[in-house]
Amino acid sequence: MKDKNFIDLASVRASLEKDGRKRFWQTIEQVAETEEFQQLAHQEFTTFRPSPKTESGMSRRNMLKLMAASASLAGLAACTKMPIEKIAPYVRPPEEFVPGKPLFYATSMPRPEGGAIGLLVKSNMGRPTKVEGNPDHPASLGGTDAFAQASVLDLWDPDRARTVMREGTIVNYSDFLDLLSQLRSQYLAKKGAGFRILTETVTSPTLGSQLKAFLAQFPQAKWHQYTPVNRHAEREGVRTVYGQYLSHYYRFDQAEVVVSLDADFLCSGRGGVRYARDFADKRRITDTHSPMNRLYVVESMATITGAAADHRVPVRPSHVEGVARAIAAAVGVRGVEPGAQSSPEVSTEWVRSVVADLQQRRGASIVLAGEHQPPAVHALAHAINAALGNAGKTVVYIDPIEAQPVNEMESIRELAADMNAGTVETLLIIGGNPVYNAPADLDFKKALDKVKLRLRLGIYNDETSYHCHWFVPQTHYLESWSDERAFDGTACVVQPLIAPLYENHSAHEVLGALLGDPGRTPHQWVRDYWSSQKLATPVEYETFWETCLEKGVIPGTAFPAKTVTPKPDFAAALGTGAANAGPMEIAFRPDPSVWDGTYTNNSWLQELPKPITTLTWDNAAYISPRSAEKLGVQRDEVIEIAYQGRKLRMPVMVLPGHADDCITVNFGYGRTRAGRVGNGTGFNVYSIWTSDKPGFGPIPAPAKTGDRYHLVTTQRHHIITQGGRKVEEESQAAFNRDLVRVADLEEFRSNPDFAADPPEQTTQAPNLYPRYDYSQGYQWGMSIDLTSCVGCNSCVVACYAENNIAVVGKEEVDHGRIMQWIRVDTYWRGGLDNPETYHMVMPCMHCENAPCEYVCPVGATMHSPEGLNLMIYNRCVGTRYCSNNCPYKVRRFNFYLYSDWHTPSLYGVRNPDVSVRSRGVMEKCTYCVQRIKEAEIKAEVEGRTIKDGEVVTACQQACPTQAIVFGNINDPNSKVANLKAQSRKYVLLAELNIRPRTSYLARVRNPNPEIKE
Ligand code: SF4
Repeated sequence: MKDKNFIDLASVRASLEKDGRKRFWQTIEQVAETEEFQQLAHQEFTTFRPSPKTESGMSRRNMLKLMAASASLAGLAACTKMPIEKIAPYVRPPEEFVPGKPLFYATSMPRPEGGAIGLLVKSNMGRPTKVEGNPDHPASLGGTDAFAQASVLDLWDPDRARTVMREGTIVNYSDFLDLLSQLRSQYLAKKGAGFRILTETVTSPTLGSQLKAFLAQFPQAKWHQYTPVNRHAEREGVRTVYGQYLSHYYRFDQAEVVVSLDADFLCSGRGGVRYARDFADKRRITDTHSPMNRLYVVESMATITGAAADHRVPVRPSHVEGVARAIAAAVGVRGVEPGAQSSPEVSTEWVRSVVADLQQRRGASIVLAGEHQPPAVHALAHAINAALGNAGKTVVYIDPIEAQPVNEMESIRELAADMNAGTVETLLIIGGNPVYNAPADLDFKKALDKVKLRLRLGIYNDETSYHCHWFVPQTHYLESWSDERAFDGTACVVQPLIAPLYENHSAHEVLGALLGDPGRTPHQWVRDYWSSQKLATPVEYETFWETCLEKGVIPGTAFPAKTVTPKPDFAAALGTGAANAGPMEIAFRPDPSVWDGTYTNNSWLQELPKPITTLTWDNAAYISPRSAEKLGVQRDEVIEIAYQGRKLRMPVMVLPGHADDCITVNFGYGRTRAGRVGNGTGFNVYSIWTSDKPGFGPIPAPAKTGDRYHLVTTQRHHIITQGGRKVEEESQAAFNRDLVRVADLEEFRSNPDFAADPPEQTTQAPNLYPRYDYSQGYQWGMSIDLTSCVGCNSCVVACYAENNIAVVGKEEVDHGRIMQWIRVDTYWRGGLDNPETYHMVMPCMHCENAPCEYVCPVGATMHSPEGLNLMIYNRCVGTRYCSNNCPYKVRRFNFYLYSDWHTPSLYGVRNPDVSVRSRGVMEKCTYCVQRIKEAEIKAEVEGRTIKDGEVVTACQQACPTQAIVFGNINDPNSKVANLKAQSRKYVLLAELNIRPRTSYLARVRNPNPEIKE
């Protein structure tokens, strides 16, 4: 018997084909009108309905797992009496402290794959509480990504390791130093033979110099580097073309045409935040004369870069090389067969049109390859850029930013072989987590067990630490001095904001001890390194260093561009192209929320709905609708994937726009020693991942297991429909409601008002209630540009951090109780197999005629004279009438005491300017009222009015593309007022006459008129 929610994908496809590009849709279930979906849409809001599992609606196992391990879920159904706190004033306060006034420090967050993003971190009375981008840092320009926003929670994570351990027993750090001293004497005599160090990719100049000094003192020792999501294919690709390891970066600010060969470059990787900003700037529309860049994407998985594309084609990973070859041949890359075949998914005409576009923009275009593509595709991309005159203009080559660039897959392979051969006596592992994330074919754990002495420095007592004799807790980047290089070589200081919370030590200290200098602090190592670089005279050095600390970057350290010439015979090294023998392929990718597993224990990131899929707390086997039909599987059905002699069972998620005959799986889950938040979430993809094919490889058709696993997505929450209508009417109505508005550039130029609300909806309609005069004083409003938004989720995590938002856990998310105050909804348009993707950022709209206010029986939600829709928490009695009357569904109710009031370390992360809500309270976006009030008080004290740009909401500040702008709409010169005056402006559900203060700028696309899709 078929499941009542069985989806006939063929009829979904037919239904969408009938509606064509008229219809925007959010889920396959919605189009299929499944029983479950109809119930959800009918209920619309979650009710207080404890699940049968426990009275609290959450399994006890998961409750215990999350309690005290995240900023969430302490009390559940318990009473809400808050613990008594004692406060004591400073007897002698530090000079720079003004109680209640935060300080900001510039620092940098290192990335697991090397590189860093510059940050300004807020410190409230010595507690780092909020991360912002550093406008002076080239990788940030003031924006951040979700990882940087969430990193402050990692600092305060109660699951961080706290004590030095020797074979499971707590010992002193001095014992470890004694051991290092003995090892130093022992290995000096042997010149280091048998001693190995394993690090992640090192881009810290100081750490690099220490490691090189170590190798100089111990010439027979070896330093290995390994990060699972590394850049070895990219490095090898550059070396194939240019004969040497080089770093490179892209100038999206100069590129008019971009072709992505399976590269998810927006907000991902070393330069991702900067690239998103530059890319958005090149398509920022101010009027009908504004130029726009154009983006072509071929990719297997649906990514945010694909969602931003003007043309996107889903292509199996192994077929991407065919597209690269076809483009290379057409632009005249020497040695590539003229007329080389493209992939079956991409037509010759498509390639021809893309090539014509590229050739018209010689020197102003970019072709880039995804990191998981093999070196040959990277090499082809570089050769194409060289042939188009882009090298040195939009693609800049510099010396490697790594202290010592190596092929990291080779490096870990060599280490594993040596461990197995018994030639490694002592291994020091700094950071990383190779027991969890090394390729399965290396059987790293087994090899590690053959090493006589295993030492480990790591933030968590994780899978690798567990298998080492000695474990030393490592400092978080906010706790210790270091330095890093950004994607363009710019050196930046990692400046601590707080002393180590526990017995933590940095890599500089441990290496210092090995170098015979255990007393030198990380600060001294970093300072001494930079003073040795002679960037300032000794007299000026103090001032120079203070400027570096203030700005967060070391001036004049960006690497100069190198002039490079492709090797004439490089094409011979490419071979004849990737052949794929399997009926299907598997593609391995880092997870957009927890990356390679580094952030698995971060509850903000775990609960964050992943871009496009909106999956939370899990990973899944993503497949296309056609592949699902072929395999006869539905969402949540568990399949068994066999790859290179290993097997993995995972639940299926059917993803519109995914390439056919391909499964994409994400790293980062299935961990056993991540911590209480991350343990046991998802499935361990590393268990089948191998070193010879790290990006993708052939697989037989996966087998159905008959099991089911419930994946939780938020895509089905908060759907705005016209309930009760038949689907044909509903579809048309949803279209007529025009939640997403979009036009092609040419359409926009001929009809700039295409998105404007009808005049009868923009004027005040009659209302039973007296009107308030909003023409005086500050009137706050927001504008969100849907052309600029790339759907990166940074705003969502920023809102969590700024507003002390609790996470609720997988089961509660499943009940529709996720607490996020701002969400990014995914909308699709067009057919099932390659729809266009749109993001809709949804905070509270702060309606002037707010429907939530009229229905509150106790006046808990009120309007301020400045147009803010406010919540007075201690009045709220939890009737939830307001959320039922909110057409945008942006109000969140604390069904339980989600906030953790008991775990001491979590007090550290809280913003003291925002109350922590308890059970039974409605909450929602306040436009960061605490920031508005701070600016108002400051302006009043200084006897002036608030300047435009002085109040920046947390979501706005985090946004890498500057899609969100906030300000005083009564000021005609304010940026927000000017944006709201643009012809693309519209508001959601204008017909309701609720006059939302948040408005949108409609999306404009720039398709190539030559390509008919
Ligand atoms: S609005 Fe939010 S999702 Fe969109 S680009 Fe900005 S931060 Fe990312």
